[in-house]
Amino acid sequence: MADDARLRTVDEHLSLVLSGVGSVDPIELTLLDAQGLLLAEDVRADFPLPGFDNSAMDGYAVRAIDTRDATPDDPVNLQVVGDVAAGAKSISGMGPGLAMRIMTGAPIPSGADAVIPLEYTDRGLARVAIHRPVRTAECIRRAGEDIAAGEPALGAGAALGPQQLALLAALGRDRVVVRPRPRVIVLSTGSELIEVGRTPSFGEVIDSNSYMIAAAAKDAGADARRIGIVSDDHAQLLDVLESQLLRADVLITTGGVSMGAYDVVKEALSEIGTVEFCRVAMQPGKPQGFGHLGNKIPIFCLPGNPVSSLVSFEAFVRPAIRKLLGKRQLQRATVQAVALEGARSPHGVRQYRRGVLHREAGGGYGVAFAGGPGSHLLASLALSNCLVVIPEEETEVVIGQNVTVMPLLLSNR
Ligand code: AMP
Ligand code: MG
Repeated sequence: MADDARLRTVDEHLSLVLSGVGSVDPIELTLLDAQGLLLAEDVRADFPLPGFDNSAMDGYAVRAIDTRDATPDDPVNLQVVGDVAAGAKSISGMGPGLAMRIMTGAPIPSGADAVIPLEYTDRGLARVAIHRPVRTAECIRRAGEDIAAGEPALGAGAALGPQQLALLAALGRDRVVVRPRPRVIVLSTGSELIEVGRTPSFGEVIDSNSYMIAAAAKDAGADARRIGIVSDDHAQLLDVLESQLLRADVLITTGGVSMGAYDVVKEALSEIGTVEFCRVAMQPGKPQGFGHLGNKIPIFCLPGNPVSSLVSFEAFVRPAIRKLLGKRQLQRATVQAVALEGARSPHGVRQYRRGVLHREAGGGYGVAFAGGPGSHLLASLALSNCLVVIPEEETEVVIGQNVTVMPLLLSNR
């Protein structure tokens, strides 16, 4: 059990969380499913790229030596003995004094050693007049010049974006071994909660946290699913969590972790002994639960107030998901911005304020605060696009001061 006398710092809690999060076993995925993930194998080229000598231009395959004396005024005339299109399966060889019309990407006929682009010719069909000499190998893409057979193409740890997926496809790899998206299960707790779509009666609240946290988890790179609501009932909570253990790499609950009666998550999971509830020197988000269930499945128990829940996610869960993905950069990037308003912050507590960040006309960023101190304010949360981070030792932000801002940019995965 946590020692309530001393608050744990955000950094201490984060290191504890990160040391409690391992990795997910690599799996093989098809290329588009692997987008955004990290490669978990070294990939070599089984064959060269390009696979065969081919033309870089639309033009005529020729022997360079035949064009040696060509000038615009006194072109060299060659007999055109055929066409080679991209995809041509068989091509005859080509003797001296001859040319073949050739398209970009088509194989170079044997006997030819250069391609003269169309624009230096009269584009003739039976005979072609060539207006300048062409150098040996001109406009020919050599087999293997991009990557040779056996050469390393991409190493384990490479991030798979469009460029890397193109190379893998070109090398004949339709599946690759990657670090998969962690499967994250999101569960809301609270006897007041109802599903969206129903009309709340007096005292009922529509569950919004599970949408917010599942969306945040997805945005962080996870394969996130919400499994709905559990009332403030020990047995039901434990049953539902148990039923998800085989399907989850990470479990997230919201609600029920403060000091109140009926704080079911804290009560039920404290008894198991593998989940620790503590207080972190941050605002919002002071009560936190973290630990493991089943076969070392990490579980985050976030506070129920929506703003506290999101801030806790950003502080602890997002870095953990990034770690599971194998990413090196676990934290969001921050920027410095000029505060357009002042604020106060308790000493010894890291405060996360919702903000509206914008680029100033003259360069740099400005940030205004969105919403007051209440952690229940969803409308102002929806207007915010960043968190302003006021460090532990600072008690006041004055107008015009530089502050650290964490833009909540959407990754679009
Ligand atoms: P708790 O942490 O369970 O004490 O909840 C704190 C506050 O957050 C209460 O006002 C709850 O009604 C509210 N709350 C808890 N869970 C949710 C949720 N899933 N969606 C919206 N509000 C919630
Ligand atoms: Mg509750």
